[in-house]
Amino acid sequence: MFATPLAVSKYIDNDPYSYHQQRRKVVAVYLLALVAMIVIFGWLLSEQYKQEIIDAESRIIARANVVNEWAEGVFAQSGQALFGLTELIGMQGMPDANNSFMLQRALDNLTVFVPLVDEIAILDPDGHVLLATQRGNRNGYINIGKTAFFNAFKQNGQRELMTPLHWSESEQQFYLYHGRRLESPTGEFAGVVLASITPRVFANALQQMHVYEGESIALIDSDSKLIARHPAPPESLPIGMNITSSRASQKRARELARGEFAWSLTAVSPIDDQERLFRIQRVSDYPMLVVVGVNFRQTLAAWRQRAWILTLVMAVIALLGAWGARHYLNRLLLSYQLRQRIEEREQARAEAQVAAAAFETHLGILITDPQGIILRVNATYTRITGYREADLVGKYFRMFSSGLHSDAFYRRLWKRVMDTGHWEGELWNQRKNGEMFPEWLTISAVYSDDKTLTHYVATLNDISERKAAEQEIHQLAFYDPLTGLANRRLFIDRMGNALKELCRRQRCGALILIDIDNFKQINDTLGHYTGDQLLQGLAQRMGQMLRDTDTLARLGADEFAVLIEGVDSCPEKAAQLAEKIAYKLLATLNEPIAVGEEHLRVSGSIGITVMENNEHSVDDYLQQVDMALFEAKISGRHRVCFFAPSMQTALLAHVKLESDVRLAQVEQQWLLHYQPQVNHHGTITSVEALLRWQHPERGLVSPGEFIPLLESTGLINDVGEWVLENACYQLSRWSQQPLLSQLTISVNISPLQFRDEHFLERVQGVFTRTQAPLDRLKLEVTETLFVEARDDARDKMLALKAQGVRFSLDDFGTGYSSLAYLAHLPLDQLKIDQSFVHQVLESPANAAIVESTIALAKSLNLEVIAEGVESNAQQTWLWAHGCHAYQGFLFGRSGTAEAIEQRLSRH
Ligand code: C2E
Ligand code: MG
Ligand code: MG
Repeated sequence: MFATPLAVSKYIDNDPYSYHQQRRKVVAVYLLALVAMIVIFGWLLSEQYKQEIIDAESRIIARANVVNEWAEGVFAQSGQALFGLTELIGMQGMPDANNSFMLQRALDNLTVFVPLVDEIAILDPDGHVLLATQRGNRNGYINIGKTAFFNAFKQNGQRELMTPLHWSESEQQFYLYHGRRLESPTGEFAGVVLASITPRVFANALQQMHVYEGESIALIDSDSKLIARHPAPPESLPIGMNITSSRASQKRARELARGEFAWSLTAVSPIDDQERLFRIQRVSDYPMLVVVGVNFRQTLAAWRQRAWILTLVMAVIALLGAWGARHYLNRLLLSYQLRQRIEEREQARAEAQVAAAAFETHLGILITDPQGIILRVNATYTRITGYREADLVGKYFRMFSSGLHSDAFYRRLWKRVMDTGHWEGELWNQRKNGEMFPEWLTISAVYSDDKTLTHYVATLNDISERKAAEQEIHQLAFYDPLTGLANRRLFIDRMGNALKELCRRQRCGALILIDIDNFKQINDTLGHYTGDQLLQGLAQRMGQMLRDTDTLARLGADEFAVLIEGVDSCPEKAAQLAEKIAYKLLATLNEPIAVGEEHLRVSGSIGITVMENNEHSVDDYLQQVDMALFEAKISGRHRVCFFAPSMQTALLAHVKLESDVRLAQVEQQWLLHYQPQVNHHGTITSVEALLRWQHPERGLVSPGEFIPLLESTGLINDVGEWVLENACYQLSRWSQQPLLSQLTISVNISPLQFRDEHFLERVQGVFTRTQAPLDRLKLEVTETLFVEARDDARDKMLALKAQGVRFSLDDFGTGYSSLAYLAHLPLDQLKIDQSFVHQVLESPANAAIVESTIALAKSLNLEVIAEGVESNAQQTWLWAHGCHAYQGFLFGRSGTAEAIEQRLSRH
């Protein structure tokens, strides 16, 4: 009844102020009212019902009382007659010949005066009839003497008693016998006077009474046998029939047992089979009951009628209420729908506004019908493509393609739109002026509610600027801005791809790493601009030399790498090819290059590793080639080195050494040895302090192994200070001893120490602490010190020289410096490197260098000392060529200070 139409339920459901909630409330109120009405009406009817029953019951009670009193009256009459007779017999004695006449008359009179009594008889103690009324049939009493009734008088001494209906065989009818005990003057049982009353007496009396419809009045005896009834019972139920139903008889038995005199019950009358309300009343102590019944149906007829009317009224009210509620709900629904529609319209308007605003965005928008015919474009679209709206509307969307994409591409694109309703991607488009531009295009199919295709919407974003920016970012991310070569990232990427490829094709590749020797010096001395130009020139030159398939990259400041892909399946051949390329590169680098107005010539060191399987990663190969390059650099630069597995071991050892060296500094595992320097007489004039490392496992470690490490870790400053301090203390101590007081100590100073900004302060500190005679301190420096920041080194040397410190140029000949250039430095001594001395006899070239060096040094007023003198022949040669100071195993190896002292004291 209150169902919501399906069409509207969908938006009503969305309403938070739910219509359904309201509907539920209304239905609940309606049902509540209905229930209340039913309860009230039901109560009303039940009250009326009860009232009807009460009324009917009081009516039948009144009726039963009247009948009861009347019945009592009847028995009182018969009782009275019997009493009178008993009195008479008491006076006259039992009937005999004398008085029987008189008694006979008395009996007959009684029947006349008490018409209710049918007959009266006098019985002897044995129950024999002594005298009876004239009408009476003596035989009717024949069996009385043996009955319980008679015995009640005879044996139990009962004074007066009445029987229930008693069937008289002789009279062939029922009687009610009313008896009274007769006693002799001595009080003994003398017999019984007996009155018989026919049921007809009662029936006749009842007939006189007026009964309402449905009402019945009956008299029954204590055995429930019908005595009389009004209206008359049907012939099937004659007088004397047991009439009570089992239920009524049970109740009757119960009530009688309880001694009740009157009670009510509802039962189906066995006489007319109608349900009745009965009132049953006992007639005094007599075995007779008055039963007044009233037909239930008839009694409640009026009530039933009223009940029907009330139910009808109730139904009408219920229907009216339901109609009202439904009407109210309909109106409510309508107002909801109205509100909903207003809201929807508002929303649609807002959406339309949003859509209109959205349509004019920075994105080009084009709308077509399902056939792809353009319906609308926005201003951005016309701005991007250069077409006016009029040029486009009505045309096929497909017509405006750039022609750069294949038909298959467009087929795929439209298939995807058909299948999924959407496509997006990058494609080329053409402006009206013919210019191609990249765009990001999104095509969406629009469907109506019933899934019919209605439109296509294409949004277009001109991404030419973004593409350019991406290109630039890509360039910046993957290319070196200075040389335009691939950078490390791109190179690593290409290496990864190359590795996969050569693995797939079972080929070998090679990785070449190039480092420009001493590039930092060029940068520092000639400036960064020149350095950059040099790098650009070198990159260009190497690029020209390489094949297109090779990848040239700049990995670091002066570090270039070449990736040679898939050259050969044989690693040896790949190595040969790589070596060839590497030497070509070396040669290319070595050619003079014009930078500005200058012509520079640089050299390079090259490391190579062959990539032959994918057991190693990109990082592994980069590490390998790094090691190879390192090897090339440490083995004198300007050379090519292949990676060998032993390098890895060396590298690991290097790492271990580095950690050991740090520990050595912490634990001060340093020792200072001294090697004698002699004059041409063989007299020790000075000593060189040489650092030793007392390694806990390896014993004494020579500085060649760890000085580069100290330098690379920066520990050299602290360790160098320790050396200088120890040497200075030694000088101070020796200066106290006459034999040793003239000894000079040479201390090696690393260029790194020298370059340290606190170098002078540190040295000054040592001098102050040790109070060493500075004129006998000689500091050995190497040529590399002057390659960078020559003026700074010179200033520092001058500052120290001012305090008397002298300087020796160690390892002379291994560097690049020329003697002319050394003339500007505050040097005192020149130490010819032992590599020259060793070969002075065998190599005429070396001999020539040493010879001219000695001569030139002298001309510059520099002392000359030769180191690494191992044989007399060498010493002789040197002496002959003007070198009069020597150091070498020929004159003694390095030893402790005590060893020197002992040796000098021996002399
Ligand atoms: P250097 O200054 O050229 O020292 C001379 C090196 O040649 C010493 O090696 C010495 O033992 C070795 N030597 C001397 N005579 C001969 C010879 O007749 N034949 C051969 N084959 N070798 C000879 P050492 O002690 O191993 O020192 C190596 C280098 O370590 C030194 O070369 C020096 O550059 C550096 N060094 C040593 N001590 C220090 C130090 O305290 N500070 C710094 N910065 N460097 C040091
Ligand atoms: Mg030295
Ligand atoms: Mg040396």
